[in-house]
Amino acid sequence: MIKGHLTAIDVIRDKRDGLVLSDEAIGFFVRGATDGSIPDYQLAAWLMAVRLKGMTDAETRTLTLAMAGSGRQLDLSSIPGRKVDKHSTGGVGDKATLVVAPLVAAAGIPVAKLSGRALGHSGGTLDKLESIPGFNVDLAIDQFIDQVRRIGIAVAGQTSDMVPADKVFYALRDATATVDSIPLIASSVMSKKLAAGADAIVLDVKCGRGAFVATLDEAEALARALVTIGASAGRETVAYVTDMEQPLGRAVGNALEVREAIETLAGHGPSDLETLSLALGNEMLRMAAAETRDLQRVLSDGSALRKFAQLVEAQSGDPRVVDDLSRLPTAPVQRPAVAGESGQVAAIDALEIALAAKSMGAGRDRKDAAIDLAVGIVLQKKVGDAVQQGEPLATVHARTEQAAQQVAARVAGAFRVTASARPRPLLLRRISATGTERLDT
Ligand code: URA
Repeated sequence: MIKGHLTAIDVIRDKRDGLVLSDEAIGFFVRGATDGSIPDYQLAAWLMAVRLKGMTDAETRTLTLAMAGSGRQLDLSSIPGRKVDKHSTGGVGDKATLVVAPLVAAAGIPVAKLSGRALGHSGGTLDKLESIPGFNVDLAIDQFIDQVRRIGIAVAGQTSDMVPADKVFYALRDATATVDSIPLIASSVMSKKLAAGADAIVLDVKCGRGAFVATLDEAEALARALVTIGASAGRETVAYVTDMEQPLGRAVGNALEVREAIETLAGHGPSDLETLSLALGNEMLRMAAAETRDLQRVLSDGSALRKFAQLVEAQSGDPRVVDDLSRLPTAPVQRPAVAGESGQVAAIDALEIALAAKSMGAGRDRKDAAIDLAVGIVLQKKVGDAVQQGEPLATVHARTEQAAQQVAARVAGAFRVTASARPRPLLLRRISATGTERLDT
């Protein structure tokens, strides 16, 4: 490659041949993606070369920083205290942000959270929040920062001028089978986290059928890549690897998940969701170097729920939902999915449950597609539970009788019942710059 005369073909060829790209070459590609000067077919070829040949830690870091710098970056320094962000790589029934954000905000940690929408089989916090009547996720940056200064919490969508390079890459990856690449996932996640401006970051790396990465080895590798990028960018980063073989909690579907988050904030949610929320929340408290608070107490004394109501009200939503769940949209038809045999639940295919919910309109394939906020699935049984033949495994919340019947059969098929089975461990690993801790012993 002749220095000073970079072309897209050179950079594609070098990566195709497994060479390590210079900072200049990576910067050139990210600028070309952002300003449209490199056409989609060359970007796509390069993404495939990265998917096949990988990237070194240094290349991944350069790519991430270039992507983070491709658009607007938030400056949260006017908000007092150390700001800690929380992010999940995406799963099924993962409403943990709806619990963790008000929980730690109620404990005095400022939470400035930019979230995403549902895409593919995984849900998105913004869609879930929009099932609360009136809730506005589109805040201008100064409104967003002002709200965190005022009430300690805001949850909004990223503005369109943030990390434009990721928008271009992600759309192409989705269409070219290049999503499942550790450097591409890591740079996509961390560029958004770095641009969002927090001082420290807690990541929930999902692992299993319902996640982007299926095996523990891959999830650990992704977690390490994320932590390494965070550390090299001067942001303390800790990643938890958590189980996503079965859905998190019991509810899958937007309004149903908000309902479950409110129940958890009121102290009577499913135990796995509460366990995860407390683990991530305690880590955020530690990172914020805040006074230790008993987060279980923040849940049981009602302050986390009050903080959630305050968030809803500040963003124009109806705060009465926290006391009256019937104010959330509900689907007209509810039908059980029943067990074909007796035994214990050995597995619930999270991906299949997500696709079943999506088939009723709970999710979307295209970014601009409308979704049905009321529909979804509520599990009555989780892995390790005993079940009798004919007993409900789950309830399907559907728009029509026909959809309910079809989806109920599909949901029943996602359960595997055997003579005996044990609950699955939820928290698997904690990965920080200093090493890996096993949590499932
Ligand atoms: N989440 C992201 O933001 N990007 C990816 O590439 C995968 C999950």
